[in-house]
Amino acid sequence: MSDSGPTDDVWTVQRILAWTTDYLTKSGVAAARLEAELLCGHARQCPRVRLYTDYDIPMTDTERARMREYVQRRATREPLAYITGKREFYGRNFEVGIGVLIPRPETETLVDLALEQISDDRPSQFAEVGFGSGCITITLAVQKAKCRVTASDISEVCCQYAARNAATYEVADRIQFVHGNGLEAVKLSQTDVRYDGIISNPPYVCDHELQELQPEVAEYEPHDALFSGSDGLDLIRRLIPESLDILKPGGWIGLECDPAQCGEVCRLMTDSGFTKPQIHQDHRNVDRIVTAIKKGNTCADK
Ligand code: GLN
Repeated sequence: MSDSGPTDDVWTVQRILAWTTDYLTKSGVAAARLEAELLCGHARQCPRVRLYTDYDIPMTDTERARMREYVQRRATREPLAYITGKREFYGRNFEVGIGVLIPRPETETLVDLALEQISDDRPSQFAEVGFGSGCITITLAVQKAKCRVTASDISEVCCQYAARNAATYEVADRIQFVHGNGLEAVKLSQTDVRYDGIISNPPYVCDHELQELQPEVAEYEPHDALFSGSDGLDLIRRLIPESLDILKPGGWIGLECDPAQCGEVCRLMTDSGFTKPQIHQDHRNVDRIVTAIKKGNTCADK
């Protein structure tokens, strides 16, 4: 495969997997074997399970050239999802690339909580701030056939990815992706609408935590989607009061944040006039999501 490996034998799938696992381990990649398999599957354009039945099959020159490029990129700690161009979220693949925050499993908990709020048979309106790949908004629209979502993002690149992902899942007709800043952009695009729910996985990492992030995140993912001031709460602090203006009475808000921020986010919600603030844990059992309800009569159509 390269000068650093033996060249006298045939480069079978098995041998390339072993070599790559070793190389990625030395480059500091934690789940090196799994990632070697995913890259190999991507290079051979086959599902990962196929690798096991193809163990003794030599990889073609084209496949090996692809693999060489992928492995070099991964060894510099470029995220796997940017190399394969996709990441699974809520059981579906979303196209991602440089400039787009990679969907994370903790955000699936946020989606679960939102889905509990949305009727299966009555129309509802949701808003999202910072849609990134579009994974939250699109999942809501796919799971709830009567739900419409207006979502904003300041990144032009994200607008392109999200539009493609919405088209893939055939929900573009119930989604409005707006290019603009925060809830302000949502309000400007639909001035009369009152929302049943507002959802966001906003940037919430403290600026000074840059050094503590994995190189995959710090060096490759969009900083706009990660950092939000000295305590990470700059955007959330704006978002909570602004949400009240456009939510229906009884409307729901759900925000992802850092475990250390959940208490403060509850307080910010209560101070702004929300009721029933609740902290929810993610798939790793750490505090991650805060939800609350706008005071007033619960909407009749909820
Ligand atoms: N949990 C993410 C990370 O640190 C942060 C995502 C976000 O800021 N929304 O990788």
